[in-house]
Amino acid sequence: MSFYVTTPIYYVNAEPHLGHAYTTIAADVMARHHRQRGEEVFFLTGTDEHGEPVADAAHALGVEPQQLADQNAERFKALAPLLGASNDFFIRTTDPQHMAGVQEVLARVRENGYVYEGTYEGWYCPRCADFKADNEIDEGNRCPIHHIELTREQEDNYFFSLASFQERLEQLYRERADFVSPRTRYNEALSFIRSGLRDVPLTRKRLAWGVPVPWDSEHVFYVWFDALLNYYTALGYAPVPQGLPAGTDLTATFWPASYHVIAKDILRFHAVYWPALLMAAELELPEHVFVHGYLLMEGEKMSKSLGNVLDPFAVIERFGADALRFYLLRDVPFGQDGSVSTASFELRYDSELANELGNLASRVIAMVHRYRRGFIPEATPDPVLRSDFGDLREEVSALIDRAELTQALDAIWQRVRRLNRYVEERAPWQLAKDVARAGELDCVLHSLVGGLRIVAILLLPYLPATMATLLGALRATPELAGARWDADGPPPGEPIARIDSLFPKTPEGSPA
Ligand SMILES: [Zn+2]
Repeated sequence: MSFYVTTPIYYVNAEPHLGHAYTTIAADVMARHHRQRGEEVFFLTGTDEHGEPVADAAHALGVEPQQLADQNAERFKALAPLLGASNDFFIRTTDPQHMAGVQEVLARVRENGYVYEGTYEGWYCPRCADFKADNEIDEGNRCPIHHIELTREQEDNYFFSLASFQERLEQLYRERADFVSPRTRYNEALSFIRSGLRDVPLTRKRLAWGVPVPWDSEHVFYVWFDALLNYYTALGYAPVPQGLPAGTDLTATFWPASYHVIAKDILRFHAVYWPALLMAAELELPEHVFVHGYLLMEGEKMSKSLGNVLDPFAVIERFGADALRFYLLRDVPFGQDGSVSTASFELRYDSELANELGNLASRVIAMVHRYRRGFIPEATPDPVLRSDFGDLREEVSALIDRAELTQALDAIWQRVRRLNRYVEERAPWQLAKDVARAGELDCVLHSLVGGLRIVAILLLPYLPATMATLLGALRATPELAGARWDADGPPPGEPIARIDSLFPKTPEGSPA
């Protein structure tokens, strides 16, 4: 089994913000979960570095575009480890191997008869690096995203004959109802296709900052085609991930991608242009495109260009990456738009991470030490809990297979709460007072450790640092196979370890 997940490559002109963090975190949860299943996993992220916006910004600063791209790519490269992301490679579209790959694939598209010369005229947004159709521009010929006035541009281009894929794209959507999800995004992409596809420019003539067109040195490829192809070209030169045999052919192992995780503003490129381009190049199509929503603050999309930024770095510095990862996937249903705020972050952190999970872990470990000198007692797990935990692993895997990351997290969290209720119901401190009930206490402690181990394994993709600490203390391994009642306990003679508070409470009255 292999699993290949990608984030979009992030445009180097932007400052890394919460939206980038959100996509990277979500893709990372999927990658980590599939690694726990023992699958071969490749997780790709990176930066998109060509196009007019970078060339213009470099010009304004009086530097070469490459120099600006180098500087800015570093900030995105640094973001991944800060978030606890386990990406296997970081691609830059200025990598010479990527550029050669783009030329190779697009030359094939031309040989296959899908490229022709023409003249394009339309409304162009330099910040989107995209032409806008007449029916998608705002009043006063403004970009609906950037609110700037668009310019009417005419340009000699090579065109990609997107329109010739009308039938095949409609067929794709008919045959594969899960090609794009959630359903609203599938419908949106399909209705765009049904409205009638028109050919799109593949190259640009007036721009020098891009991948040169091999058959015409006056042109570079349009930045979107260059960017989309990163998902394919990366496998041609990325180092082989740890755990796979040296010399593994990554393209043969991982193509086509299992999941492209994207935000809804780039839906059309991934749900329409991308499959058409792959068809034109005779390459296999990805299995799924999952489209997440926007994180909103006071009703506005969070974005650097609009101002109004919640700083993920400040959250990470104070509370750790795990807290940010948990909050974003817990508070906003993955796939929908939702509001985020520092106030709701603090509420989730204190009431759920610190109280419900952190206290549960400390309490269970402390009781095993107090009543059984740190050793997990031999006992049959409590059948009352067994039924609550029986199918949890399968339930979580099925949800993550559909990228329903918030629902999977909620399913796990219901069991965290179940374990807390169980502690209250069974009151081990009462059982401990009565020697005649030692067997009952053994059963309760054994069951609590078993339940804690299962939730810790399943939470590991969401909370990689803290759950690794907890699993280490419980002497448990992270593989998903261990997330079951009858899994082996720790090696005999090894006590479980005491740990510091996993989620220290916030000092009272301090804002996040
Ligand atoms: Zn725009």
